[in-house]
Formats: sequence, C-alpha cells, structure tokens
Amino acid sequence: MATRHNWTKEEILEIYNKPLMELLYEAATVHREHHDPNTVQVSTLLSIKTGGCPEDCGYCPQAARYHTDIEGNDLMSVGQVKAQALRAKASGSSRVCMGAAWRNVKDGEEFDSVLEMVRSINKLDMEVCCTLGMITENQAQRLAEAGLYAYNHNLDSSEEYYKKVISTRGYQDRLDTIGNVRKTNVTVCSGGIIGMGESADDRAGMLVALSTLSPQPESVPINALVPVEGTPMEEQEPVSIWEMVRMVATARIVMPETQVRLSAGRMQMSREGQAMCFFAGANSIFAGDKLLTTPNPDVNEDMELFKSLGLNPQKAFEKKTQPESVSAEESQYQNLGEKPKWSRPEHKIERNLEAQQKAKTKV
Ligand code: SF4
Repeated sequence: MATRHNWTKEEILEIYNKPLMELLYEAATVHREHHDPNTVQVSTLLSIKTGGCPEDCGYCPQAARYHTDIEGNDLMSVGQVKAQALRAKASGSSRVCMGAAWRNVKDGEEFDSVLEMVRSINKLDMEVCCTLGMITENQAQRLAEAGLYAYNHNLDSSEEYYKKVISTRGYQDRLDTIGNVRKTNVTVCSGGIIGMGESADDRAGMLVALSTLSPQPESVPINALVPVEGTPMEEQEPVSIWEMVRMVATARIVMPETQVRLSAGRMQMSREGQAMCFFAGANSIFAGDKLLTTPNPDVNEDMELFKSLGLNPQKAFEKKTQPESVSAEESQYQNLGEKPKWSRPEHKIERNLEAQQKAKTKV
C-alpha cells in the first residue's frame, strides 16, 4: 500500500473503530509490507534538564506552576550525558533522545553545550535525538550540522483538544517547529498522548494532522497518559489496552513507513498487551527505568520480553545513514541570538488553573 497524505478524519475513525481482529490483521499486514516484524528499535530517553518549565501542559509534572514531587536539575554536563549514552549503548539502545524542559531553545551557552552533547553521542555511532521545545530554522540547522539524527516535537492531540491541554502556546507553533526541522536533513519524531480525556474523534484528528504531513514523520510515539499527582490530569482514568492497541494499529495503517513507538504508559501494560501492540505495528520502544520523570520497565525486563517474543533490537542507522558531525570551530552557522515570537494564546483552561491554585496552597 502506497503512503497517502490525504487521510480524512472519517476514514481514520472508520479504521480505528473496526472490529479488533480485522483491525489487527490489516495493521499487521501493512506492517509486514514495510518493516521487518521481528525488529524493534530501542531508544533511551535522557532528561538533560528536568523541571522548572514555564509552560502549562496539563499532563506534565515538569511544569513549574504545578506542585509535584519531581526532582529538578539544571542542564547536565557533556561528560555526564556521554557516560549515560555509553551505558544505554551497552544495554542495547541504538538511539539516545535528550529532553530538556524548555519552552523553546535560546541561543547561548546552554544550547552550545547541547550541540556538544549531540556531537559526542554521534561519535559513539548512536542515533541522537533531541526534544528541546520550539526551535528556529537556524537552530535546527545548527543541530543538523552537529550530527543530530532526529528532533522530537509532539502534536500531543488534535488541534481542537490541544486548546484544552495547553494555553501557553498554539498548535501552529508546533507545526512551525516541525517545518523548521524539515528544512534540514534531521528526521522528524512527532506523536501524542491518549488518555487525557480526549474523544476518539480527537485521536483521529491527531492522526490526520500527522499523516497529512508530507513527508510523514519518520517516527510517531504513542503515549498513554501517566497521571501524576499535582498535575491537572491527576485524576484521569488510565486508558485500556484495547484503546492503545487500536491507536497503534491505526497509526500503522495510515503511516505505513513510520516507526510507531510505544512510549509512556508501558508500566501499566502487561507483557501480553505490549506483544499485541508489537503485532499491531509498534516497532520502537523507549528503554530505561525512567521516561523523563515517570517510571518505565527495567531494561532487563524489556530484553527478556524481546527474547520470549523473538524480537531483535534494530541496529543504529539501519533506516538512514549516519549524519556527519561538524565541530563547533568548523561550523558554518552562527549564533544569531534570535528572539522569535512564539504565540502565547493564554486562553483559560479550568483544570490547569485549579491545579495551579492548589499548588500555591501547598508551597
Ligand atoms: S511537556 Fe515540555 S513544554 Fe510542557 S510543561 Fe512539560 S517540559 Fe514544559
């Protein structure tokens, strides 16, 4: 089946709501046409700067305005990151994804340090991904030149539901950052979260937004919300495994070439549930005992699961060649000291405001 970029919400909903056995069969067939079904890519997510974020994402324990138990930390050093990357490589990861709790990247010392981290991981012959918030075209070019393989920037949900989750930036800002990444040779990783109170319609809306991008993202993480005490979504009911399987299978069918990644929420899934997601077309996971701030299965457990299912970790650069890494001294790009105007809609989201209020009483 050729990749289509004109999926409609109605078509996607029809797929999502199919009888489960039919949906699984169709997704597994598409999966086999485009991928080796026994290979799964393993990424390690590393929080290089934790907490204290100025944004108000309703699902996130790192937002400074909510009161959660996470331990914040300033930007890690290049040496610390390299040591963690070596550990990740030794335990079977082919990719390191570095996450910083920033609204957007600011030119300066910290960004220069992140560029060095990218260079040092690229030298370890691992794929390097960053998730640093909104970036300009120049920043994307500088990351590409340092040897970045992928940039993660999630759309989170449908454009309509996004307004009920975040008020400090708009959906178009997300699309603009993805557009900036697309002007380079860096691959795009963009997905979302289910279980935030959105409808099936919103889930389909998110898949429309992702699948109509041309090219489609090379990787799409599907997260199940992990409700954290103190965040506006602390009382959300967990999603069922069936919803997760449906979401993975639908993403696989509408984005056949993409690597669909099982991300947050795997702790709540049984081994059988995860196996069903792999059958439905998931071919990537996040490894490591923590996903930014929330718990994740132990890497040994993952490797045991792989062994029982006959799955093999994907080697680095199997899908695309290793990007070259240019040193800071030889860089063609300058620090432009840009101050882009990302939007600040600041519409009211009652549950975010309530959580903020509650946090004030706890401090
Ligand atoms: S999801 Fe990212 S941008 Fe939003 S509050 Fe958390 S760290 Fe900040």
